[in-house]
Amino acid sequence: MDIPFVSFRPMERELDKDLREAFNRVYERSWYIDGVEDKCFEDSFAKYCDSKYCIGTGNGLDALMLPLKAFGVGEGDEVIVPSNTFIATALAVTYAGAKPVLVEPDKDTYCINPLLIENAITNKTRAIMPVHLYGQPCDMDPIMDMAKKHHLYIIEDCAQSHGARYKGKIIGSFGDAAGFSFYPGKNLGALGDAGATVTSDKAIADKIRALRNYGSDYKYHHIFKGNNSRLDELQAAFLSVKLEHLNRMNAERCRIAGRYLNEIDNPLITLPVVPDYADPVWHIFAIRCARRDQLEKHLANLGIGTNKHYPIPIHMQECYRDLGYNEGSFPIAEEISKTELSLPMYYGMSDDEIGYVIEAINGFTL
Ligand SMILES: *Cc1c(COP(=O)(O)O)cnc(C)c1O
Repeated sequence: MDIPFVSFRPMERELDKDLREAFNRVYERSWYIDGVEDKCFEDSFAKYCDSKYCIGTGNGLDALMLPLKAFGVGEGDEVIVPSNTFIATALAVTYAGAKPVLVEPDKDTYCINPLLIENAITNKTRAIMPVHLYGQPCDMDPIMDMAKKHHLYIIEDCAQSHGARYKGKIIGSFGDAAGFSFYPGKNLGALGDAGATVTSDKAIADKIRALRNYGSDYKYHHIFKGNNSRLDELQAAFLSVKLEHLNRMNAERCRIAGRYLNEIDNPLITLPVVPDYADPVWHIFAIRCARRDQLEKHLANLGIGTNKHYPIPIHMQECYRDLGYNEGSFPIAEEISKTELSLPMYYGMSDDEIGYVIEAINGFTL
């Protein structure tokens, strides 16, 4: 049996007619940037995220960087980010002009460990960027308390967790703002690059709206040195189609994860932990195994695609040598990078396919 790590096919086949209609609608209108589709998607997505405003952006990186800029975080400032995340989290801070300061995750949930945040706070710290990684919500209560105590902004990185909930409340509605990515592989994915920032702060929403469009409040009038990062009409139209199905498709991921959690029982494998407070949406199903590379080969030989999130931690990346960290600086992130393996997880996996993956993992021996 051949099971890819991810496939968009089942979902695309199901939504085929609606996606083509969305394309036709935009094409007939012949209006591609800053139009009704963007506005319509922004309204629905703000509602979905229990937030007052949504501003579409060109990608998730900008959806995180623009709110930092809007809050005035930049040169000379520090922003706390987890040591185990996709590099875009740190790059958003760098592009805003500030310095990312890394904090280790909790080994069970993979999300930033709130108990370690206070130690990393200095008189330069301006914001915390918690990442709801792999679709799991961060432990937000202590993070919010810390931010309040030290007067820090919270910009949530929701790129992997559209629709996840913490204590019943949807992620993206906790912080001062939140950034989403609609990269095709995300739980809500466009047919290309796209992103959005949500916030309930009107002034910040207005500022981000200007910043994404050359810092312009009205045409050819520029109040900021802005970026070009708009959500184009085609992607907005596709996203509106897919948003309608997001909860159902997340529920299907939860069903797959439920089977993995219940039926994988190989003592060589560590399964992810779901705390009581969490309703995760399983962007990634991350297991750990001391012999990860052997397991990867074993699964590949059986036709099962896997992935690693992430094989080189941020502090070990060549581009971030200037942060002054080295091997051993973040042992938990390093251990995750050496032992983590991501299992196939996508809408439309059949029961047989899920069962085949489980059997293959349970059959793994040294
Ligand atoms: C995907 C991702 C981003 C960046 O999104 P892009 O749309 O690729 O720019 C940021 N943070 C995390 C955690 C991500 O997974």
